[in-house]
Amino acid sequence: MTTPPTPTAGAPAAGDRPVVGVLALQGDVREHLAALEAGGARAVRVRRPAELEAVDGLVLPGGESTTIDRLLRVVGLREPLRRRVAQGLPVYGSCAGMILLADRVLDGAPDQRTLGGLDITVRRNAFGRQVASWEEDLPLDALTGDGPPVRAVFIRAPWVEDAGPDVEVLARVGSGPAAGRIVAVRHGALLATSFHPEITGDDRVHRGFVAMVRERVGGRAAQGA
Ligand code: GLN
Repeated sequence: MTTPPTPTAGAPAAGDRPVVGVLALQGDVREHLAALEAGGARAVRVRRPAELEAVDGLVLPGGESTTIDRLLRVVGLREPLRRRVAQGLPVYGSCAGMILLADRVLDGAPDQRTLGGLDITVRRNAFGRQVASWEEDLPLDALTGDGPPVRAVFIRAPWVEDAGPDVEVLARVGSGPAAGRIVAVRHGALLATSFHPEITGDDRVHRGFVAMVRERVGGRAAQGA
């Protein structure tokens, strides 16, 4: 067995494993922790404001966006998280996590709020009752280079109804009733997918996100911030 490297104070140098948190209030936390570790990060659970302060990046997992929104308020993480997103914290939201990052939600619960920051309108449970789940191989070149497509598993997933001018569209559904719908986007340090790469054993989306985190940490270190 090898000893894991001791984390050092301050920003890690490029090539080190950045500390990436997974919001651990509800949802498939364990799968994201494993995918982040495989993707080159040191993955930690985040349940409290002090834990949030210690991360270089954060994953918002799938689950139920209304529940996660409520729990964020209960544990006092909502405002600290909004603040860090505004300061440029890299965040990856999957499914319910995408909803939480969206500036605008269609078909949300009556009192549903989001953290916002990502200039998109999402439609919640967009695939409808007949197509509550959907699977497809999607090219995701921005994150995987010219590697094979990513197996995209959609579970009561949202899609992006509309994206602002600075949002980069990374993937659209290729076939079936939702063909053409936007399901992966990036906007500055924010990444979001309608689907769940953490359950497929393919760590390339997480690896791509860890690269975004490393870039941000490296940039901050270069500025002496
Ligand atoms: N339908 C859920 C919501 O609205 C998202 C589903 C998921 O994360 N798998 O939050």
